[in-house]
Amino acid sequence: MKKNYMPTDALVSPRFCGIKTFMRTPYVTDLEDVDVAVIGVPFDTATTYRTGARFGPAAIRDMSTTVRPYNIDMEINSFEHINVVDCGDMDIIPGYIEDTYEIIERECAKILDAGAVPICLGGDHSITLGELRAAAKKHGPLAFVHFDSHTDTVSSYFGKDYCHGTPFFHAIKEGLIDPAHSIQVGMRGNLYEPNGFKDSEDLGIEVITAKEMHQIGIEETARRIVKRIGDKKTFLTFDIDFVDPAYAPGTGTIEIGGFSSHETMELINGVKDLNVVAFDLVEVAPMYDPTQITAFLAANIVHDFIAMVARKRK
Ligand code: MN
Ligand code: MN
Repeated sequence: MKKNYMPTDALVSPRFCGIKTFMRTPYVTDLEDVDVAVIGVPFDTATTYRTGARFGPAAIRDMSTTVRPYNIDMEINSFEHINVVDCGDMDIIPGYIEDTYEIIERECAKILDAGAVPICLGGDHSITLGELRAAAKKHGPLAFVHFDSHTDTVSSYFGKDYCHGTPFFHAIKEGLIDPAHSIQVGMRGNLYEPNGFKDSEDLGIEVITAKEMHQIGIEETARRIVKRIGDKKTFLTFDIDFVDPAYAPGTGTIEIGGFSSHETMELINGVKDLNVVAFDLVEVAPMYDPTQITAFLAANIVHDFIAMVARKRK
């Protein structure tokens, strides 16, 4: 018989009770019959400025217990249609990124090989390269949607290849993503040189800056993302610093002039029919998040990712 996993019912057990898993889904490591596997990747020693995202997965799980299962924007209770579980955290190795990449790739491959969609909770943005290696091995070069205020396509920092500012340079060089179906959205902030987004454009990736987004609006932005991606198998990565620091202060590298939580949810809703095979949400750093609004927003975004899978698989 097919397994049927459900979150703990908050009308029976108060939401502050129990051990915290994502949205109170079962903690499961056997991936049979699993559709979505939420998994923590608490690696943050590849940041170029403020660390702290190692505590992101725990903070997101903590606030996720207050997210109710019926997703009003997506018009679905995902848990009635698909099996969603929490696999706990990967045993990453602090300070050792290349060894950690092997661990991330191996753990994501297990989820993908079981036919499930991984949703990784970071951790800093360096982790996405390990996830992409696993996803591309499974599915071939992927379409790529990236929400962030930074392009993360610098070739190296401090004379080293890997940090949270470089993953997508390497993803392109390794052939993991197809630049012709890749788009980066929300870029802003002061830069080291005038043409700071040119790195991405030179790699063939489309960039929609925050300034442009503010001009064209959310709906048109979503339309351009969908046009760029089409029905290709897609990797979606969300850096929480896409959101304005007024709404998401709890992150390492804030930039002014971003988007509200409402605009963020509207934008995700506008791309809800993309064929996403792997997601992540990165850079939540709870020590800069005194009222937990960043972690709460992150939990709601992940809830939307789950709904995107449920809409496809129901
Ligand atoms: Mn980033
Ligand atoms: Mn960023």
